[in-house]
Amino acid sequence: MTDALPPTPVLGSLHALQVPIPYPMKTVTVLIDAPAHGPVTMIDTALDTPEARAAIEDGLGALGLHWSDVDRAIITHHHPDHYGLAGVVEERSGAAVHMLDVEIGRGERYWHLWEEWLPGHLKHMRDHGLPKGSLAEMGADNRRGRDRVHPATRVQPLREGQHVQLADRAWEVLWLPGHADGHLGLWNEESSVLIAGDAILPRISPNVGLYAYTRPDPLGDYLQTLGKLEALNPRRAVVGHHGPVMEGVQARARELRDHHHERLDFIKAEAGREPRSAYALSLAMFPRDLNTSGRRFALAETLAHAEHLRLLGQLYRTWDDASEVWTYHA
Ligand SMILES: [Zn+2]
Ligand SMILES: [Zn+2]
Repeated sequence: MTDALPPTPVLGSLHALQVPIPYPMKTVTVLIDAPAHGPVTMIDTALDTPEARAAIEDGLGALGLHWSDVDRAIITHHHPDHYGLAGVVEERSGAAVHMLDVEIGRGERYWHLWEEWLPGHLKHMRDHGLPKGSLAEMGADNRRGRDRVHPATRVQPLREGQHVQLADRAWEVLWLPGHADGHLGLWNEESSVLIAGDAILPRISPNVGLYAYTRPDPLGDYLQTLGKLEALNPRRAVVGHHGPVMEGVQARARELRDHHHERLDFIKAEAGREPRSAYALSLAMFPRDLNTSGRRFALAETLAHAEHLRLLGQLYRTWDDASEVWTYHA
């Protein structure tokens, strides 16, 4: 047994586990729904570590279940801390794994076509100024992350607007892009509960990054998602980290929008003052000491802001032959 907290009741037969992950957020939320009649569902699966496997086993055990009882898994998005054990669930139980249609290709490229995908990813970061030393470290870092993911082999698509049955209620499938292109949410209007994954978080701003394989304007996507969440105004949201449940989603969505608008103003002013690469801009936006993965997130986040401004016609970018990087300028 681990010293994991007992499952938190969320709504009817739906329970939340706080599963340990070796990231600063410390835990990720895994949901288990075990209705008296109907399929046993797991929502998100945590990272593939011995600690996470043990915590999920304990959580299932507390609900009188084993891996083999899981009939289906629904994954909010392809990031390793949510998708890591998807393949294990599939193998141990024969469960069908479901993701939003938009996200399936992202997961596939990221976890199955790893070797094909990595060079493009590194080139994208290099073209935006990430120094050589950090690039090499980043490749190694990415490989470590890859080792903690056991990908699913057959993923079934869910579509926006479709309904799934959980806790004896119908939940509408939402598309909440920004943090991930095909980020899924599940919404039950009658109880005003949203299963939000990382689309909104209470204590940290969900990373919104532009990578080689993402949609062209993740920040634009995310600002629309925040508008959607504000209009939905759920009474409670089950969140991926620092949860399992948060209230005040509408106020938090407004706060996050203000935060991104402040960052947009900052980037516009900085690039206007002196043309610079996205990496140089990221050093100005995140001046504190960060490790390699922190700097990569900072670069991708800065780039999402700079590209959003460029697509709005408020900034321009030019290839600089001398330094071989894109520079952003007014
Ligand atoms: Zn995530
Ligand atoms: Zn996460």
